[in-house]
Amino acid sequence: MTYDVCIVGSGAGAGPLAYELSRAGKKVVILEKGDIYSEKDFSKDEIAYTKRDVFTPKLKDEYHVIESFEEGKWVKTPSYENNWSFWNGSLLGGSSNFMSGFFHRLKPNDFKLKTLYGAYEGATIEDWPITYEELEPFYERTERIVGVSGEITEYAHQEPRSTTQYPYPPLAEHPIVENFDTACKALHFTPFKTPRAILSEPKEGRNPCYYSNYCGSYACSSGAKGSSRAALIQPALATGNLHIIANAFVVKLETDNTRTIKRAQYLTQEGTKKYVHAKLFILAAQAVESSRLLLNSKNKAFPKGLANSSGAVGKNMVFSGGGIGSGEFDLSHFNQEALLQAGLFVNRALKDWYFTKEFKGGVVDFLFEHANPIRRANSLKREDGTLIFGKKLQDKIFQTLTTKRVLNFEVFNDWMPNDNCFVSVDEAYKDKYGIPVANIRIGAHPQDVIVGEFLAKKAVQVLEIMGAKNITYAISPLPPQNLQAGGCRFGNDPKKHVLNRYCQSYDIHNLFVTDGSFMPTGGSVPYTWTIYANAFRVADYIQKNFDTLLKT
Ligand SMILES: Cc1cc2nc3c(=O)[nH]c(=O)nc-3n(C[C@H](O)[C@H](O)[C@H](O)COP(=O)(O)OP(=O)(O)OC[C@H]3O[C@@H](n4cnc5c(N)ncnc54)[C@H](O)[C@@H]3O)c2cc1C
Repeated sequence: MTYDVCIVGSGAGAGPLAYELSRAGKKVVILEKGDIYSEKDFSKDEIAYTKRDVFTPKLKDEYHVIESFEEGKWVKTPSYENNWSFWNGSLLGGSSNFMSGFFHRLKPNDFKLKTLYGAYEGATIEDWPITYEELEPFYERTERIVGVSGEITEYAHQEPRSTTQYPYPPLAEHPIVENFDTACKALHFTPFKTPRAILSEPKEGRNPCYYSNYCGSYACSSGAKGSSRAALIQPALATGNLHIIANAFVVKLETDNTRTIKRAQYLTQEGTKKYVHAKLFILAAQAVESSRLLLNSKNKAFPKGLANSSGAVGKNMVFSGGGIGSGEFDLSHFNQEALLQAGLFVNRALKDWYFTKEFKGGVVDFLFEHANPIRRANSLKREDGTLIFGKKLQDKIFQTLTTKRVLNFEVFNDWMPNDNCFVSVDEAYKDKYGIPVANIRIGAHPQDVIVGEFLAKKAVQVLEIMGAKNITYAISPLPPQNLQAGGCRFGNDPKKHVLNRYCQSYDIHNLFVTDGSFMPTGGSVPYTWTIYANAFRVADYIQKNFDTLLKT
């Protein structure tokens, strides 16, 4: 059988395409590396979920090579040696199952950072080929279809919107937000109410949030979280036009020596080679793996890799980076009942310095430390560097878990794309199937840390006014592996860019890349709302132009 559309991956970059094209009557197949799960399979098993390794390959079998700069040179370390996994969820819906759902749109000026601030030495920033105004209807579409809960309040750098409110009211908040808002007022900062891709009300077969207290890093057993699986693929399946082949690891997209992909080659869990034929191919395997697949799909006609006549595949990777910090609250701030109210959200962020006159700033999101009792208990096992045991440890754990809560903050600043942050493949490093793995060079631009420090200090000011104890923070130039984009930049120049403004390959007319790979810069926020919105935009374009696209 030849499908109309074959989608590689099933996460945030894939779901909107599956949803829209199957509803438009196209015969769609998804090839997903992982297995199929549904709400009833998801538990709050801390060890399984926070390590996510029940949903990701064993690093001995399938790894990445991390290239870091050590003592004056780039050093390659296979990830099975340092346990630094860049797999984020190999299952239907991908890592969108595990996200916390902190949702931020980009702002109009994010699309023209180079115009706004000029070139940064050592950075490869570029303006986007599209504007915020072109993406806005699809941000709005994501709000409605994926489900975003929140409340619009006035704040600096507010992006324009076509609607006045989110489609779902805000999730219930913990009393600590009152202290947060008061502290912000005292400092003349504006508390921003963070929208969440978590339903506060039921929606078409999905239950609202039941405030389980185990959200970020856990898959959602109520269907409230706007994962690609719950929000888009489940309804797409109901059309009867979507077929999912699970445990299908796509290793090559094969062309017929023209500008057309004919079939996707995949391996079953047992390593058996199989093929799927389709008219159109959508690649959405998350940024690192999408670049890897294109580079590994090289052939006689495309010796540098598929869609890579520009040589830009894998280049200009970005990560939504920054750092983390925390402050502690106890019974001197709240009575026990108020302090320990489980499951309620903080949903506050600071965005006052998203753009400053001198430099591009960013966002600080505030959230309670994840509940995870095992991790918390484990962190208490030492006193003055010495292990403690028995009743002493028991009392300390009891005391901490019943009288303290930690308010964390996460800093997000633009990861400056640069020539030392890219994905490549190297024949010397292969997975258990004999396929070259992705090498990830993780060079960061020094500006990232400067901005991260600036933002963290603002967050510390808020925690201080709130009366938090033991305030700490750490800003890091290392990439967070779960927030990845870039590698297949879109742009207007086929000599420089992998994709055109509709995320269609310049070289291969029936190939689109719709995960975060297309992004030239990432904005100072986690990427998922933008990935969803852009994928809806591309779906709209494909739907309107399907027949013409096949003739090109
Ligand atoms: C713990 C956690 C918390 C997060 N919190 C937030 C948040 O609060 N806000 C936010 O905006 N974002 C958050 N994210 C990030 C968010 O999940 C990602 O940005 C988003 O899911 C990326 O979409 P994607 O389509 O690129 O990749 P994914 O959603 O990961 O989907 C990729 C899919 O492709 C499959 N695949 C890979 N290679 C192949 C292959 N060769 N063949 C077949 N299939 C393949 C994978 O198995 C996977 O299912 C979080 C992520 C994690 C893990």
